[in-house]
Amino acid sequence: IAKRLEKFKTTIFTQMSNLAVKHGAINLGQGFPNFDGPEFVKEAAIQAIKDGKNQYARGYGVPDLNFAIAERFKKDTGLVVDPEKEITVTSGCTEAIAATILGLINPGDEVILFAPFYDSYEATLSMAGAKIKGITLRPPDFAVPIDELKFAISKNTRAMLINTPHNPTGKMFTREELSKIASLCIENNVLVFTDEVYDKLAFEMDHISMASLPGMYERTVTLNSLGKTFSLTGWKIGWAIAPPHLTWGVRQAHAFLTFSTSTPMQWAAATALRAPDSYYEELKRDYNAKKAILVEGLKAVGFKVHPSSGTYFVVVDHTCFGLANDIEFCEYLIKEVGVAAIPTSVFYLNPEEGKDLVRFTFCKDEGTLRAAVERMKEKL
Ligand code: GLN
Repeated sequence: IAKRLEKFKTTIFTQMSNLAVKHGAINLGQGFPNFDGPEFVKEAAIQAIKDGKNQYARGYGVPDLNFAIAERFKKDTGLVVDPEKEITVTSGCTEAIAATILGLINPGDEVILFAPFYDSYEATLSMAGAKIKGITLRPPDFAVPIDELKFAISKNTRAMLINTPHNPTGKMFTREELSKIASLCIENNVLVFTDEVYDKLAFEMDHISMASLPGMYERTVTLNSLGKTFSLTGWKIGWAIAPPHLTWGVRQAHAFLTFSTSTPMQWAAATALRAPDSYYEELKRDYNAKKAILVEGLKAVGFKVHPSSGTYFVVVDHTCFGLANDIEFCEYLIKEVGVAAIPTSVFYLNPEEGKDLVRFTFCKDEGTLRAAVERMKEKL
């Protein structure tokens, strides 16, 4: 294996899901819904296949989808973007992240990450030969330590990667935090790559896109996908929105990573994004109910639950149960209790910082959430 990837193991999501299957545990680990996406979107995919939309798509996206993404972005942020020049459709947001990093970062460029961070960021930055600088968001509120951030920026800092609503903590970046980060980026000529795949799962406050802040669109790549919003995580339709000078890099990388993305699924994705507002409202209502079941349940089990404003995740402090660290706790939880969660230490540059925290997901039907809580109440 190449040196730049040597330190990365099988992803923690795969590890925990495999262990959950082996021990018959209820899986509140890997973030995938155990229910299906909406009928009208599945029907649209079947129709697209029947209509012969089955050969290579245009590299940067089928025109209808690029238009639907632009419409959605305008509705969400007020920004008007050119679907032909500023949107690139990719194979999930994970590819959008990779294409953005590989297309815009040179070896040796410094990139700032906020820990805990989603595992693909570090691996992809490593593939690009970037130098990673980490800033840790700490409980209870995971606020951005602006002075540390200021200190971390150097003349070699090329970009900052942010994620809001944030996986794994459920933190949402406030307007004040985003404004401070924006000022620093403008002053120091730093780009922002912003992963907003949970933007429609914002419960406690409104989601704010970094690109919508004054002076930021021209230096921001906004990354998003279909999977979370439409409970279709296996479809792998994502996209990057950026001004033409940044889109150029993203498209060059995308052209040689995957060239294009599944054609019929792109047509169906366009149908999905044109869903009426009521779809999004219902999604949020359903998830709010699930969240309440899990959060109240975890509190009743005895965990210290950190407040989550968005995403379908919540992190808890497990230390009152007396296990040495997050990995040991999750192994115990799967094997002895029959519930899977995700240890968070893998989301930090320094694993020590995550050893007290584990992540649970509530993207499961209510019966499954209740059953998991019951198991924990009985056996923890
Ligand atoms: N994004 C999902 C999560 O955080 C899973 C991603 C994956 O399995 N690679 O759980």
